[in-house]
Parts: sequence; C-alpha cells; structure tokens
Amino acid sequence: MIVMKFGGAAVATAGSFHRIAAIIADARKEHQCPIVVVVSAMANATDQLLSLAKEVHPNPPRREQDMLISVGERISIALLAMALELKGVDAVSFTGSQSGIITDECHAEASIVEVKPWRILRALNEGKVVIVAGFQGVSRTGEITTLGRGGSDTSAVAIAAALKVSCVDFYKDVDGIYWSDPKKDGNAKKMEKMEYTEAKKLAEGGAKVLHLSSILLAEKNGVLLRIRSFYKPEEIGTVVGSGGA
Ligand code: ASP
Ligand code: MG
Repeated sequence: MIVMKFGGAAVATAGSFHRIAAIIADARKEHQCPIVVVVSAMANATDQLLSLAKEVHPNPPRREQDMLISVGERISIALLAMALELKGVDAVSFTGSQSGIITDECHAEASIVEVKPWRILRALNEGKVVIVAGFQGVSRTGEITTLGRGGSDTSAVAIAAALKVSCVDFYKDVDGIYWSDPKKDGNAKKMEKMEYTEAKKLAEGGAKVLHLSSILLAEKNGVLLRIRSFYKPEEIGTVVGSGGA
C-alpha cells in the first residue's frame, strides 16, 4: 500500500488537480497496489478562510472557526476525486471524520488520539483510490476539529501508521532537504537521508519542510518520510527516518 501526501503548493490551482491525478494514476499503474492520498487545502485557502472569519468576528469561537477552515481541505479532496474520475481512476473522497481520524476536543490545536480506518479499508477493498482530507478530525463527541497549521502532514503519518504502511511520500514544491538554502547557495547539496533527530531540529528551527508533530509521530511508529517534488515525481529526494533507503 502507498500513502501519498500533497500539500497546498501541489494543489494551488484548478489545473494542478490534473497534474497530481496523473502522478497518482502513474503510481497505481506502476505499483498495482492500494493507494491512499492525503491532501491539504489549496495554496492560501486556509489563510483566506481565517481572514473571512476575522471579518465577521474579531476573536472567532474556536469551534466555529474549525467548522469553517476544515472546508479548505474538503474542497481539495472533492476536486481531486473529480480529476481522477476524468482519468478513469475510481476514487472516493473522505473528510477526516469519515476517515475515522479521532482527536481530542482541543479546537484549532487538536491531537489525534486514534484512527479507525474502517471506511478507508472498505473503499480500498473495492479497488478505489481513497482521498483523505488532511488537517482535520472529529472528537469523540462528534465535533469537527483541526490539528494546527501545517497539520495535514500529521494526518498523513497517522493514516500510514494506522494502515501499517512503512512510508509516506510527501510531494512538495522542493525536491528534498538541502544542506544549505538552494535559493541562496548555488552549490547547495541535497541530502539523501536524514535522521528524525535532524529533521526535528529543522522543524523546531522554523523550517517549513515538515510539521514537527508529523516527525514525532513518524519516529514513534517507525514511518519513513520521503520528500519529493511534484514537478519531478520520478525522483526520490530526501528520506527522513532510521534505516531510510
Ligand atoms: N491547510 C492547513 C494549513 O494551511 C493544513 C496544512 O496545509 O497542512 O495550515
Ligand atoms: Mg503543509
């Protein structure tokens, strides 16, 4: 089984859904195995929803804010399912709640407490590509929650851990992690492998490459994190994790 994660940069425009649908269709053809795809909201969608909330209320109630911003990922999953249908790939989109992502009650900063992936497994058994909305879950009392900014990385790792998949492929607008900033240093070298400890230091230092809690969860469950570019999907960039190959 493969778990793929596409961030906001990979779904910035309507056209990008066709691009990532092609990446998914190719992976399916090549590996002939079940595929779960986790997606973020389109580029600035979450920021736009947050500003909209602020236009209505200076300090929006966190429950209602979660209800609002969880919509960003919902837009992405539906559009991706449509793009896959057009390619003849049978796919189904699920919200965090439908995917069985159970969190605590802490609105805007919820933590995943359990994943009950029954619906995901059933759809995979039916031969469908399953598309999961990142960044969101549902509390035990049925409230929609979000995981904190950048949290869809954590959704992807939690899904992989629950399905016992040993690695998550993160498709980004960068093709890996570099020793120095490739935008400033023309000779910057890409790292092939990185330990969880180093990745945690990067995330703590504010690097946007992976969300800190996703690295912690990956380390706990021994899930490898592969950073690759959606511009060059055939290349594996940097593998984060012990024994990463
Ligand atoms: N859309 C959410 C955010 O912008 C979650 C994510 O992209 O990981 O923070
Ligand atoms: Mg992100």
